[in-house]
Amino acid sequence: MRWFPILAAAAVLFTACSKDESSGEIPRLPLKPIDPGLAAEFDGQRAFAHVETLVGFGPRPPASEGFAKQLDYLEKQLADAGWTTRRQSFRAATPDGPVDFTNLIARHQSAPAFPESLPVIIGGHIDTKKLPFEFVGANDAGSSTGILLEFARVLDSDPASAAQIELLFFDGEEAFRPNITATDGLYGSKYFAHELSRRPSWPSLGIVLDIVGDPDFPLYYNPEAPAEIVSAVEKMAPDLGFKSSLTMAPGSIIDDHVPLMATGLPCFHLIGDFQSMGYWHQAGDTLDKITPEMLGKVGKLTLQLLAEPNLQPSVAAP
Ligand SMILES: [Zn+2]
Repeated sequence: MRWFPILAAAAVLFTACSKDESSGEIPRLPLKPIDPGLAAEFDGQRAFAHVETLVGFGPRPPASEGFAKQLDYLEKQLADAGWTTRRQSFRAATPDGPVDFTNLIARHQSAPAFPESLPVIIGGHIDTKKLPFEFVGANDAGSSTGILLEFARVLDSDPASAAQIELLFFDGEEAFRPNITATDGLYGSKYFAHELSRRPSWPSLGIVLDIVGDPDFPLYYNPEAPAEIVSAVEKMAPDLGFKSSLTMAPGSIIDDHVPLMATGLPCFHLIGDFQSMGYWHQAGDTLDKITPEMLGKVGKLTLQLLAEPNLQPSVAAP
C-alpha cells in the first residue's frame, strides 16, 4: 500500500471512467440483497484458524513454496465449501526480473459460469511481501484471506446469495521494492482487471479487504467509496462495535481496488491504519497481532452491507 494524494487518484478515475462507462453497452448486474441472516453465521474463530494455517506455511511471496502450499489449501477449502476455482496464471516483468503469478478466482457452484460476471466481487491479496527476513504476514495479508475463506463457508448455506459473489484471491499486490509504483505492485489485480474489462457483463460493486485483523488500530475506507455504501457502513458500524474506529481514510490509498476502479467498477476498500502499526512489513506481523473478534467484526460488516436493500451504487458520469 501507499498513500497517494486524492487529486492524483481522482485523475486516474476520471481517465478510467471516460473509457466506456457512458456507452451503456455492457450491462452491470444488479445487486440483490443477500440473506440478512448470514452475517450472524460468520465465525471469526474459523477465519482466525485459517490465518493460523496460512502463517504455518511461512513466507508466501509470489512463486514461493509457501505460496504454492497456500494455493493448494485455498483450493481445498473452497472446494469443500461448494465453490469452484480457477487459477489465473501469468508472467510479468518486475524489478527482480520476470515472475510467475497466480490469482485464484472462486465462484459458488450455484453461480453462472465464467466468463459471465457476478454482481459483486470480494477480493484481497494473498501474497506476502518478499523481504530479506522471515515475514509471515498474519495481518498483511493473512487476515483478509481468512475472512474470504469464512465467507465461502457461510455463503454455501444460501446458494441464491452465494451465486451473486465472486471471491478473488490476488497475487502480487506487494511491490518488490519498498513502495508500490506505476510499474511495481498490484500485479494480480491489474491482470484481473484487464480480464474483467473484456467480460460480456459487469459487476456492480467491488469490495477489497487488506490488513483488517488488528483491533488496536482504526479501519479506513476509501474516500472514493460510493455514497450509498458509505452511508450504509456508517449506519451499521456502531452496532458492530466500531464506534469511531471505522472512518474515511485521510487520503487515497493505492491497493488492489485501484485497478478495479480503473475499469469503472465502484469499490469499497477497507484497510487498517497500517502506517501506525510499528510491525507493518516487519517480522513482527505475527498471529498475536490479530484477533478472532476483529476478523468477525469485519466479516459481519461486509455481509451486513451486502444484505442492505437499495445498495446499488450509482456510477459517476465521466
Ligand atoms: Zn503489505
